[in-house]
Amino acid sequence: MKVLKFGGTSVGSEEAIRQVAKIVQGNVDQIVMVSSAVGGVTDQLVEIGDTAARGKKEYESLLEAVKLRHEQMYYNLVENKPDTNFYDIIEEFEDICRGVWLLRELTPRSADFIHSIGERLSTLIITDFFRTQGIDITLYDSRKYIVTDDQFGNANVNFKLTNERLQEAKKSFTKVNLFPGFVAATEENETTTLGRGGSDYTAAILAGLLAADHFEVWTDVDGLMTADPRIVKKAHFIEHVSYEEALELSHFGAKVIYPPSIQPALEKGIPITIKNTFNPEQKGTLITKEWDEDKQLIRGISSIKDIALVTLSGSSMVGIPKFSYRFFRALSTANVNVILITQASSEHSITVGIDGKESGRALRALNTEFEEMIATNRINPIEIEDNFSIIALVGSNMRNQVGVSGQMFNVLGKNGVSIHAIAQGSSERNISAVISKEDLHKALNVLHESFFLSLTKRINLFIIGTGNVGKAFINQLAQQFTFLKKNHQLNIKIIGLANSRQMHFEKDGIPLSKWESYLAEGVAFTKEDFIQNMYDVNLRNSIFIDITASEDIAALYADILKKSISVVTPNKIAATGPQTDYLNLKSMSKRYGSQFLFETNVCAGLPVLSTLNDLVRSGDQVHQIEAVLSGTLVFLFNEYDGTTKFVDVIKKAKELGFTEPDPRLDLFGSDVKRKILILIRESGYTCEYDDIELNSFLPESCMESSSVEDFYEKVEKEEAHFKKLYEDAKAKGARLKVVAKYKDGHGSVGLEAVDATHPFYNLEGKDNIVLFYTKRYDDHPMVIKGAGAGAEVTASGIFADVLRLGQSDM
Ligand code: ADP
Ligand code: ASP
Ligand code: MG
Repeated sequence: MKVLKFGGTSVGSEEAIRQVAKIVQGNVDQIVMVSSAVGGVTDQLVEIGDTAARGKKEYESLLEAVKLRHEQMYYNLVENKPDTNFYDIIEEFEDICRGVWLLRELTPRSADFIHSIGERLSTLIITDFFRTQGIDITLYDSRKYIVTDDQFGNANVNFKLTNERLQEAKKSFTKVNLFPGFVAATEENETTTLGRGGSDYTAAILAGLLAADHFEVWTDVDGLMTADPRIVKKAHFIEHVSYEEALELSHFGAKVIYPPSIQPALEKGIPITIKNTFNPEQKGTLITKEWDEDKQLIRGISSIKDIALVTLSGSSMVGIPKFSYRFFRALSTANVNVILITQASSEHSITVGIDGKESGRALRALNTEFEEMIATNRINPIEIEDNFSIIALVGSNMRNQVGVSGQMFNVLGKNGVSIHAIAQGSSERNISAVISKEDLHKALNVLHESFFLSLTKRINLFIIGTGNVGKAFINQLAQQFTFLKKNHQLNIKIIGLANSRQMHFEKDGIPLSKWESYLAEGVAFTKEDFIQNMYDVNLRNSIFIDITASEDIAALYADILKKSISVVTPNKIAATGPQTDYLNLKSMSKRYGSQFLFETNVCAGLPVLSTLNDLVRSGDQVHQIEAVLSGTLVFLFNEYDGTTKFVDVIKKAKELGFTEPDPRLDLFGSDVKRKILILIRESGYTCEYDDIELNSFLPESCMESSSVEDFYEKVEKEEAHFKKLYEDAKAKGARLKVVAKYKDGHGSVGLEAVDATHPFYNLEGKDNIVLFYTKRYDDHPMVIKGAGAGAEVTASGIFADVLRLGQSDM
């Protein structure tokens, strides 16, 4: 004999019920079948009861809707109107709700009666429908067989009486024997229920007592997964688990199976399979006693969303006899389930995690128990804090493995999830942590990625700035997306995108090929809203990318880094402000596990900063830097040969897009100053912008101008000056380069005539070059040379920073 249990979604629609009939028909064995209420109905019944109890007449229309839904299902399946059995149940339902409404009171007894209606109706529909399909089926009212005490809402089964009644019933079993799940009754025939999700338990009791050969739990997922698939999209399916692991997973919220339900099957050693009603070909998850050795370290990650922490504390608890015994007894008498004990009861306090819904009950019970001691200040008032969740790593192999908890807390910390309490189950099959409810989604996903390595890692980007560089970056990402996913297990998504006018957020990622239309349909941009949205979606592995030149945006970095979100940017403002601010950003990122990367600040996509960082990290020391850091200036002095006026060369460079929109920014040398400043700081030295000496090649008259046009005029007037610079260099066989230097502890920028033996002599086009003289590269400097400007190369530098983060354990 087999026991088959079908959950709410499995009987949630006519289609589903037809599917169930097929599954049942496919069995040759005798079947004991248990069914839940039609999906969602129990929740509706709870609402109806509560609404009536609050004296609200709306309960009637809610009730009507429930009735109609069942009537319709019946009619569509059986192709006939329901008979009096059906309407008798509805009438009882209406009567009791009316009573509750009149009295404005919902006793646990009435609540159970109301909540039992769902299973009673669903099984009636199934029975009549199965008969039309030629299935030999008998419907048993579970209330006559499953005997419980009168702990309404969560009744305890009297196994002895239940067994007697079932053995009697078994004698006349037909091919298919259907029992409504969840519902039971006291010896006095008062309807009780076994707790939410209790149909699993009904089925397990039947399986255990009737000594079934197999117990199948039919639900809406392929089996037990490594995490709740609604929260972790990448959760994968577990083929085989031990009872212990399944128990542990379900204890911490894997609600596919209800924890007590395993117990009766476990005692009898009956194998359990979890199967998908909507995908019956799938093998499902097998739960057995045997233990197969080469299992993974971690079997799954479970979570309970809504937890309250209850704390009993007081300095004089020391010496109060049995206070922890009394604490637990009070909770248990009030039927409050302690999910985890967050610390071994110290002498001064004890904290436990309970279901958030039970916090009121817990508080009342504890206040009564400790009333006198609280009144006399011997202990503190009971503390209850809401809005927590629990996450638990579960796996039997964890027992002898060091480092699991270290990895868990490291990963959570890096993602800014703070841990309020930790507990290791005495079985050592789980490590659980209490975290804020708002961090649950992030924590689960990041742990899942960390412990189930084969899975791809998701990186979430928040980008401000869609100018030339921003566009190029998104296009490169779109081109590389599939490659990165396949070869590097990186799934990079843009979650938030903005330009100066508009912004758009998409929790699952903005389609990379359609970002422009998504952004166009976005809402008005403000930096505050953007940041707030980014914090609110609260995703793991988040990176903020600033592709603007805005001071306002740069001012946000510190706060963002503090939220454990890394920052990547070509914007030089933050790294070139006062040294203290720069150091503050660095230490902030260290402290909060985020990173601040700005490779493109110097020489666009050339790996200048990353190389420098590697040198410094590995113990090398930079003592001198020589560099050509402005592609624009290289172009100007390469082009200028005295035949065309210098001002016309500037205009040409501007036309070609090689200058800033205001070319004065390039010509004044401030951009170069910023870059050398960053190189000096990243080498480990202290330096301020104003410490860097600037020897301008512009004559005095060009330093003040009211507009770009005015500037052009002034430059034109000084043509002779530029020509002389050129001719003098030429006479020496040299070329002009604007060189940035760090030497003898001093930074400078100035025009130099370099001869043919100098490595700068042959710089082409807009190339940049950097020479690092270090302890290790002393006579022959480390040279980095290549295109140092342009949207594409800058975008690729940003990309490199993103990948660097993706491949680190961010
Ligand atoms: P039923 O109505 O069939 O009893 P439930 O809704 O009670 O179904 O349980 C099945 C649901 O449990 C799945 O749809 C899934 O969303 C959720 N769930 C939570 N954790 C897990 C997990 N680790 N593996 C599988 N499902 C899980
Ligand atoms: N119908 C009940 C509930 O929703 C029992 C069950 O489905 O297991 O909790
Ligand atoms: Mg369930």
